[in-house]
Amino acid sequence: MNRRDFSLNLLFGAAAIGFRRLPLQSSLRVNGDRIVEHLNALSQFGKNPQGGVSRVAFSDADRQGREFAQGLMRAASLEVTVDAAGNIVGRRAGTDSTLKPLLMGSHIDSVPEGGNFDGDVGSMSAIEVAQTLAEKNHRTRHPLEVIIFADEEGGTIGSHAIGGEISSKQLNLVSSSGKTIRDGIKFIGGDPEMLSSVRRHKGDIAAYLELHIEQGGILDTEKLNIGVVEGIVGITQWEVKVEGFANHAGTTPMNQRRDAMLAAAKFIDAVNRIVTSVPGRQVGTVGKLQAWPGAYNVIPGKVVLGLELRDLDATKIQMLFGKIRDEATQIAKSTGTTFEFTETNSIVPAPTDERLRKLIDETAKSLGLSTKWLPSGAGHDAQEIARIGPVGMIFVPSVGGISHSPKEYSRPEDIANGANVLLNTLLRLDSMMG
Ligand SMILES: [Zn+2]
Repeated sequence: MNRRDFSLNLLFGAAAIGFRRLPLQSSLRVNGDRIVEHLNALSQFGKNPQGGVSRVAFSDADRQGREFAQGLMRAASLEVTVDAAGNIVGRRAGTDSTLKPLLMGSHIDSVPEGGNFDGDVGSMSAIEVAQTLAEKNHRTRHPLEVIIFADEEGGTIGSHAIGGEISSKQLNLVSSSGKTIRDGIKFIGGDPEMLSSVRRHKGDIAAYLELHIEQGGILDTEKLNIGVVEGIVGITQWEVKVEGFANHAGTTPMNQRRDAMLAAAKFIDAVNRIVTSVPGRQVGTVGKLQAWPGAYNVIPGKVVLGLELRDLDATKIQMLFGKIRDEATQIAKSTGTTFEFTETNSIVPAPTDERLRKLIDETAKSLGLSTKWLPSGAGHDAQEIARIGPVGMIFVPSVGGISHSPKEYSRPEDIANGANVLLNTLLRLDSMMG
């Protein structure tokens, strides 16, 4: 380790990424007006009467939006291909072909009745970064890849195919378009039989950067420019079955009831109390409830609840769940009911790379922007790519914290700021990484 490596390691902590050079101070800036123009043009595909888009993956609108994006990518001097999972990959060679590629990207599919910023901001900005580099004749040392991932909203399908494996069970799921994921991938030019060709492994990429709207209201409320994402939270979901005894609501005295709904109500309150009883940004929700037999005049004998816990730390999720289960045992005792928990879904947390967080923070500050470090409560393609290399995520404010809605909005100046942070973080990474 020479002296320069040593000082950088002090700056960035343990070296999983080989930062070799000092950061470049670049004067390059994106064209913010052009990003907004492209966002407006993209918003026409799948436009809905509420002013948002319904451009669900594998729909006609998705295919049209993808055509549009490919045209922009070619205009940005990227060599465009569609991989077997349907991801649009735009490449530009670097000056050193021995280096692994630097990736940027996001998605352009939406939820049904979604907005024009979720995914689109990151996708159009990544293309804008490539276009800016091409116009300024700046060739990166690393090969550059801009990726628009297929079907993000239906379960990060395209990025999952790169970072892991898509099961045949997943391929057979029916997506929001009405097509199975298998047929949808074919519809957008992929080949579901060849998904293994898309798979990449640890060390295959230098790094991945994703710009995205926050989808929450922290940056907007605190009037901050840039969110440095600490990671994408883990999510665990349980089906909770509460059993009591269904009986006549008129003739059963209050002290002889085994009311599953009453037990469920105490449980919901306990979840909220336990989740807020320890410091941190963890969230816990009971978002689903069904009672049987479901009549005015019958004491509920059975209730099924949906419990969900999210945090950046998987052990914290388990710790909270342990407390919740203990409390459920107490509630069961006092109400004459039983509780049964079945884990139905678990997504592990995906922390972003610590040195990339610092680099994004420093880059934003060098551009005169304010920053805040925060977790992402929503899932992103970055969580899949984190399996194969270091990832960094940049958030820009969502006005009013609204997302997955036609009312979703991010201001042009905030988008331009985010794209400039993306561009300059990429340039610094390109000059620093070995
Ligand atoms: Zn998104």
